[in-house]
Amino acid sequence: MCDPEQKDLYAVLGGSPSDSLQQLRHRYQQLALKYHPDRLGGENSAESSVKTFLEVDAAWKILGDQTTRREYDLQRRAQELKQDWTVDSTVDLEDMTWETDGCECSYSCRCGGTFSVSKEEVQEETQRRLQELNEQEMHRGAQSGVLVCCDTCSLTIYVTWSLNKKMHMSK
Ligand SMILES: [Zn+2]
Repeated sequence: MCDPEQKDLYAVLGGSPSDSLQQLRHRYQQLALKYHPDRLGGENSAESSVKTFLEVDAAWKILGDQTTRREYDLQRRAQELKQDWTVDSTVDLEDMTWETDGCECSYSCRCGGTFSVSKEEVQEETQRRLQELNEQEMHRGAQSGVLVCCDTCSLTIYVTWSLNKKMHMSK
């Protein structure tokens, strides 16, 4: 069996990231009923059913809560991007260097090339994330991020920043 931590929680519930909370809840309930240890007869393999039940339950604990679901979505998205593209590393925006004109910030690639993000890009993504978030999440220090390609080689980095600190950029 695969390591449960590697499993896609949506797949565990038989759903997809575009499912609404209600749809996921419905799927969870169906699966929970099917695999609930109390409902097993002697012929079922109790051990694997219990394992499935626990996985389904754990997946729902994360996906059933809006805040943890969003955190998971973000992690999942970063994971996916890492798989599709060669993401070299994750870099905090604060570790990047703002160009003197303040419109762009850059980071050196190990090939000698440069990764650069424009202030506009950062602001747009920040706005987009802010619209998704509720106040509670803001207080917990939500993050945003964009993928940036090297201007010379095929490497990509994931640049992240804390939404609470976005004011730093308007200085
Ligand atoms: Zn490069």
